[in-house]
Amino acid sequence: MASYPPEPFRIKVIEKIRQISPSKRKLALQGTGYNVFGLRSDEVYIDLLTDSGTGAMSDHQWAAIMEGDESYAGARSFYHLQEVIKDIFGFHYFVPAHQGRAAENILCSLLVQPGDSIPSNMHFDTTQANILARGGRPVDLAIDEASDPTNHHPFKGNLDPIKLEHFIQDTGPEKIPFGMVTITNNSGGGQPVSLENLRQVSRIYHQYAIPFFIDACRYAENAYFIKIREPGCADKSTQQIARDMFALVDGATMSAKKDALVNIGGFLAMNDEDLYHRACNELILREGFPTYGGLAGRDLDAIAVGLREGLNETYLAYRIGQTAYLAERLMEHGIPIIEPAGGHAIYIDASSFLPHIPRDQFPGQSLAVEFYLEGGIRAVELGSVAFAHTDPKTGEMVYPPLELVRLAIPRRTYTQAHLDYVIDVASRILDRRDSIPGYRFTYASELLRHFTARFEPVS
Ligand SMILES: *Cc1c(COP(=O)(O)O)cnc(C)c1O
Repeated sequence: MASYPPEPFRIKVIEKIRQISPSKRKLALQGTGYNVFGLRSDEVYIDLLTDSGTGAMSDHQWAAIMEGDESYAGARSFYHLQEVIKDIFGFHYFVPAHQGRAAENILCSLLVQPGDSIPSNMHFDTTQANILARGGRPVDLAIDEASDPTNHHPFKGNLDPIKLEHFIQDTGPEKIPFGMVTITNNSGGGQPVSLENLRQVSRIYHQYAIPFFIDACRYAENAYFIKIREPGCADKSTQQIARDMFALVDGATMSAKKDALVNIGGFLAMNDEDLYHRACNELILREGFPTYGGLAGRDLDAIAVGLREGLNETYLAYRIGQTAYLAERLMEHGIPIIEPAGGHAIYIDASSFLPHIPRDQFPGQSLAVEFYLEGGIRAVELGSVAFAHTDPKTGEMVYPPLELVRLAIPRRTYTQAHLDYVIDVASRILDRRDSIPGYRFTYASELLRHFTARFEPVS
C-alpha cells in the first residue's frame, strides 16, 4: 500500500470547502462555455487547477507579513529578500515582479527581437506566449523520452544537448538572444532536470556566447529530485544543489507562487549589470520601483521566508511523497498518467484515457470537464487547447507532444483523504469513459486561449 511521510506541520487555520450538487455543477459549467477557468471557486470542491499561489503559508510567513515595510523606496522587506536570493541563488542582481510572467515579460521585452528563437527543454505557456508576443519563436528541445508517457527516465525534464547544438548551428547564435531551461519541466509533466544536464547545456550555450536563463519556478523540487536520484548528490543539501544549479546560469525568472510558498510574487534575477539597469527601467515603467516591483513590502517578506521553507528537506520529502502517492494509487486503478510522477502534479494522458476522441476534439478538455461534473474537482487541460500554436516561421500548426490533464497539488493544503477522493472520482470517470464527448471551440483568443476559450460538446 502506497504511503508518504506525514505532514511536517499541523493545521492552525482552516478554510471551509463544500460540494454543490451534480445538477448545479452541470449548470455552472455550461454557463462558462465548458471552461473550468470560468467557474467560481465556491462551485469547486477540490481545486487542483494549479499549484500556483494556492498553497498555505506558515505562521512564520504570516508573522513576516506583519513586519513588512511599505516604504516606496528602500524598504527593509526588499533587503530581507535580497539577502535570501543572494544566499540561495547567488545572483548579483534581481528585481521583484508581481509574478513569473511579469519577469518573463521584462526579460523578453529587453532581449527578444522579431525573428529570434529561444530554445528550452519546454517553455511553459506564459513563457511561450511572452516570446511569441515579441515576435520571437519558442523552441522546445526536450529529450525524446519526455514525450513517452511511461518511460521511467529519472530526469525526463532534460534538454537534449545534441538537438541544442544542431539547433544553434542551424539557426545561428546571433538569432538566439538567450536560452532557457525550465526546472522542473511543468509542461512536460513536472519532470526534473539533472545537474549533469544543466552543466552540458550551460557549456553549449556559453560556447556560443548565448546567455542562459533558468525558469526557476520549482527549483526546490528539482533540487530534491537531484538529491534522491542523481549519482553523487545524496549527501548534498538541497541548498547546496540549488547553488550548484544557479552557478551554471546567467539569470533566472521565478514565480514565487510555486516554490517560494506565497500567494503572489516573482522576480527576475541576473548577473549582468547592464541588463539589470535596463530591467530596472522597464520595471519602473510596467511594475513599480525596483525595491518593490509591483508587490507590497509584506509580500517580499513572505517570499523571503517562503524561499527558505521551500528548500527544507523534510517538507520536500512530504511534498514529493504526496505527489508520488497520488500517482501510484491512480495507476493501481488503471488511470494512464505520465510516469514517473513529477513534483507538483499528476499529468493524466488524456489520449490514452479517452482513445475515441481525436486530438482536434481535445481529449484533455473532455477529461477536465468530467472531473468537474463527476466530483467537483477542477483540473486543467495542458494539451492542444493550451499549447497548439501556429509557427511564425513556417505557418504550420505545432501540436504539443501529448494531450495532458494536470491535477496540480497546492502546497501544504490538501490531506490524504482529499487525494483518496480524487482517486475515487478518476476511477468512476474511467468506468464510463466510452460515453464522454469531444469538444469544439465556440470562442478562442489568439494567445493563451485556454484561459478564456468557450466550447461546446461534439455530438
Ligand atoms: C507558473 C509558471 C510560470 C508563470 O508564473 P506566473 O506567476 O503564473 O506568472 C512560468 N513558468 C513556469 C514553469 C510556471 O510553472
